Amino acid sequence: MRKDTALLTNDMLALWDRENFFHPSTHLAKHARGETATRVITGGKGVWIEDRDGRKLLDAFAGLYCVNVGYGRTEITDAIAEQAKQLAYYHAYVGHGTEASITLSKMILDRAPAGMSKVYFGLGGSDANETNVKLVWYYNNILGRPQKKKIISRWRGYHGSGLMTGSLTGLGLFHKKFDLPLTQVLHTEAPYYYRRADLSMSEADFVAHCAAELESLIAREGADTIAAFIGEPALGTGGLVPPPAGYWEAIQAVLEKHDILLIADEVVTGFGRLGTMFGSDHYGMRPDIITIAKGLTSAYAPLSGSIVSDRMWQVLMQGTDENGPIGHGWTYSAHPIGAAAGVANLNLIDSLGLVNNAGDTGAYFLAALRDRLGAHANVGDIRGEGLLVAVEFVQDRDTRTYFDPADTIGAKVAGALLAEGVIGRAMPEGDILGFAPPLCLTRAEADEIVGRLDKAVATVFG
Ligand code: PLP
Repeated sequence: MRKDTALLTNDMLALWDRENFFHPSTHLAKHARGETATRVITGGKGVWIEDRDGRKLLDAFAGLYCVNVGYGRTEITDAIAEQAKQLAYYHAYVGHGTEASITLSKMILDRAPAGMSKVYFGLGGSDANETNVKLVWYYNNILGRPQKKKIISRWRGYHGSGLMTGSLTGLGLFHKKFDLPLTQVLHTEAPYYYRRADLSMSEADFVAHCAAELESLIAREGADTIAAFIGEPALGTGGLVPPPAGYWEAIQAVLEKHDILLIADEVVTGFGRLGTMFGSDHYGMRPDIITIAKGLTSAYAPLSGSIVSDRMWQVLMQGTDENGPIGHGWTYSAHPIGAAAGVANLNLIDSLGLVNNAGDTGAYFLAALRDRLGAHANVGDIRGEGLLVAVEFVQDRDTRTYFDPADTIGAKVAGALLAEGVIGRAMPEGDILGFAPPLCLTRAEADEIVGRLDKAVATVFG
């Protein structure tokens, strides 16, 4: 805890906050009026964070599913400090690099699924997906098919909140009043078996239905206008939903038939969350580009990446032979401090065995949740893969009746859980409470979450 800030009372900080700070993803008016709290976080260790009032909270969402190694790891903060002292910044244009950025690109490729060739570094998931769309467009222009440009995403997919990436995101909140989605973006069925419209469908029927929906969208638009399909291996912000069995195989068959590239958005699933290094490995995906961010540095410094396949790389190289240097780059691409954090972070993920722990403790956590809450009348579904886990609340589990969104049940459960000292996340659509804790979670900590959630559920539903 920083003692020098003790001169500022929380009230004063809250006032400065309301007067000066434009928070992302926040109800601006309520916050400005002081109707929502200002929470000042001062420190963290492992899965725990501490606020300025000295309250300790178990962060079962790892910030925004990003602090994979947990808080307070000096292996990473020391590496950041060393890099900052030696060289805080140099750019990566026209062949420049640092020991950290070059080493990190090699470490990423060593861990990536087969067929990947190079990594382009950005700062966050949104800009990485913007890069991906540009690379896909460039690729098709070089191949002489300038009309093959549309990108298909899924309803409930989350790919960022930029102009293009906010369009790719399939959640209404990110489109409304922003004049999105842009015309080059199309959405198809979410692989959300629990919420299927026709409850009589088996999982296999539903997978066939998703593939058929994709086929008919492609037929309507014309395959020669569709460049790529983007998807998270398991849906994240749209509800934390692992795909039904066989989903990716069925989708990839359609994409391959129509020569449509696959972008695997692994911003959440990359670097261990599902119990495998990449979600693409977990589900047998064969992506042309993989988006990475969050777990790449465990968010100790901002860094993202686009891992490009050899197939695409060959065409990108041809493009620069024909057109000169690629007209794409950020000032902070491959920032040395982010890269140094990334190297230390990936070493730590390996040395602590966090990928295996995500699989083992994730399975334990999921089983414990089902054990404790599986029979509750308002719990419709408890699902997960590794340490990406969700509990979905419904009004009636037999008739599959959902609560009125105006009742904000998900937010109420998250609020009651916070009162018990655990941070879960009320996902933006549906009454879904999400968990994505640091991958260092222990079984005892998983038990803590389950016990406190049980109390929170009792508080909300009586
Ligand atoms: N892609 C996925 C799957 C994400 O979950 C996110 C953020 O949560 C993004 C992209 C956007 O990343 P950022 O918020 O760093 O721009």
